[in-house]
Amino acid sequence: MSNLNEETILTVRHWTDSLFSFTATRSPSFRFVNGQFTMIGLQIDRKPLLRAYSMVSTNYDEELEFLSIKVPDGPLTSRLQHIVEGDRILVSKKPTGTLVLDNLLPGRNLYLLSTGTGLAPFMSIIRDPETYDKYERIVLAHGCRSVAELAYRDLIARELTDDEYLGELISEKLIYYPTVTREPFRHQGRITDLIDSGQLFEDIGQPGYDPDRDRVMLCGSPQMLSDLKIRLLDQGFTEGASGKPASFVIEKAFVEH
Ligand SMILES: Cc1cc2nc3c(=O)[nH]c(=O)nc-3n(C[C@H](O)[C@H](O)[C@H](O)COP(=O)(O)OP(=O)(O)OC[C@H]3O[C@@H](n4cnc5c(N)ncnc54)[C@H](O)[C@@H]3O)c2cc1C
Repeated sequence: MSNLNEETILTVRHWTDSLFSFTATRSPSFRFVNGQFTMIGLQIDRKPLLRAYSMVSTNYDEELEFLSIKVPDGPLTSRLQHIVEGDRILVSKKPTGTLVLDNLLPGRNLYLLSTGTGLAPFMSIIRDPETYDKYERIVLAHGCRSVAELAYRDLIARELTDDEYLGELISEKLIYYPTVTREPFRHQGRITDLIDSGQLFEDIGQPGYDPDRDRVMLCGSPQMLSDLKIRLLDQGFTEGASGKPASFVIEKAFVEH
């Protein structure tokens, strides 16, 4: 039996020249934990061309949603960026990943720190009711070059607070912290620098990290991950994995070839 489902594209949204998102049908048998990724792709010359993608949609949504980079010469995304409604994509039936709530020890504040498409797994985590059961405060930081690349900004900042079921919890507990590096905006600079200078904590009214109280999930560029990991380890945080919960977890948003 194939370990791939074939799904149908329902909608496509182009955010910028280098970023788009799309929704697709979801086979009822496809189950995942919020924060996980799976392999998705296209059938090319009768062979599947697959890449890892985090689910933006939650495990309770009827449809699947993904946020994607457009790499001009990328084997998959040079093609995937042209998909339209009705096209077919392949979705692996075997989701996996470390960015899941069970890989963290209980804590008071949850920091979700992302750059670029690293936002994707956190889109499902911030819409998971369990996140709000487990944490008093959830801080979602998203760093990009330009404001246009801050995908889902209106959804996070406005629509989610009106959500019928989670709106009240989200308004009370979620702090959204978008920041850009290449144009004027209310928060400017790299997340790593904003943490080093203490600006991020000052802006959100928090005293700074504490490994006894805070839990962190990181998803971004390899550079951002290695910079932040060093800082967290220095401050006494320990890295978690499946079956070994600790105070922070990491997932690469992509791999440099
Ligand atoms: C665990 C995991 C989860 C991932 N989740 C996503 C996701 O949700 N959305 C997504 O768009 N990609 C995601 N990726 C990256 C994705 O798997 C592919 O690399 C990407 O779709 C490009 O595929 P490609 O075949 O066009 O080019 P590739 O040959 O795969 O990549 C070419 C080059 O493009 C750059 N690149 C690749 N992906 C990105 C990216 N996301 N952001 C910035 N630069 C990139 C890198 O420099 C890479 O060397 C994930 C990767 C991993 C390991």
